[in-house]
Amino acid sequence: MLMPMNCIKNYFATSLMNNKRAAKRPKISIVIPAYNEQESLAILYKRLKEVLLGLEREHEIVMVDDGSSDGTFEEMKRLVRKDKRVKVMRLAKNFGQTAALSAGFEAAEGEIVVAMDADLQNDPRDIPKLLTKMDGGYDLVSGWRKKRQDKWLSRRLPSVMANWLIGKISGVPLHDFGCTLKAYKKELLSQINLYGEMHRFIPAVAAGQGARIAEVAVRHQRRKYGKSKYGLSRVVSVILDVLLLKFLLSFQSRPMRLFGGLGLIVAGVGTTIFGWLSYEKLVMLRPLSQRPLFQVSIFLILVGVQLVTIGILAEMMMRVYFESQNKKTYYVRERWQKGKK
Ligand code: UDP
Ligand code: MG
Repeated sequence: MLMPMNCIKNYFATSLMNNKRAAKRPKISIVIPAYNEQESLAILYKRLKEVLLGLEREHEIVMVDDGSSDGTFEEMKRLVRKDKRVKVMRLAKNFGQTAALSAGFEAAEGEIVVAMDADLQNDPRDIPKLLTKMDGGYDLVSGWRKKRQDKWLSRRLPSVMANWLIGKISGVPLHDFGCTLKAYKKELLSQINLYGEMHRFIPAVAAGQGARIAEVAVRHQRRKYGKSKYGLSRVVSVILDVLLLKFLLSFQSRPMRLFGGLGLIVAGVGTTIFGWLSYEKLVMLRPLSQRPLFQVSIFLILVGVQLVTIGILAEMMMRVYFESQNKKTYYVRERWQKGKK
């Protein structure tokens, strides 16, 4: 059947409008790390697409196979054949969720990047909520699994404690740093390198750079297929990462303050003891042979000098770190110039 002319016109007018609207709003990249999640991917893709097509924004889906040993990558390739907006990559071995996310962030081309788990525990229907919040001028919007469907002892309890601690250290009072479902500005992500289990600390690191952060409650489902990749050992790595986080947040760009400060205190104590004992020996003529404190004072002075030296080395390394990668020690929120926004 032939379409009447005005219908055709209307059709073009609306699709043009949609395109314009889509073009104006920032493109979204969904980043999904997956390790042995073959059963979940097709269902996840279907649910995601339903949400993304309703957004009137350009989108892409970046899936990262983190060295799976099941059919995860075959499943991903099947999706690529079906949809040109799907990009997939396979890491050479299992590098861990943080590295997989990092690879996905690097490949993402959208101005806004939304990360989520592949195992259907996060719900794509929460994505619009995150994006609406982002439109309110935030650099990062974090999901909060308010009704978390995981085991209490091995998951929820350590998580409550870790969130409290990370919140205290970073001054970012999020309820759920560990929720993968988060939206980020791509520009912000490109400033942050991720190591270890650090993906959960992105909000803390970002806040250290002045990023605006918000939180929205999201759904959470019990895992249906496959199994969780983590046990209690994650608690230990998170604790170590929290210590590192404290260092990075307070001293990354000025390590001399930490090492140099400590060095001065230690050497100062050593010098005071040394001075006192020298006075006793030279003026009061008491022998030093009975005074083990003398060795201690020399030891303290040496340790102090070494700490200051470590501080200088750390300062030099910090400069190499920032300059070799063109990293900034700041994050620009907006730029204005006459004639340009
Ligand atoms: N994951 C990954 N590499 C790993 C471990 C996990 O890419 O080495 C992915 C996993 O496939 C899932 C997400 O990270 O999409 C979260 O993992 P998991 O569900 O096991 O964590 P939990 O929800 O139990 O905290
Ligand atoms: Mg999970």
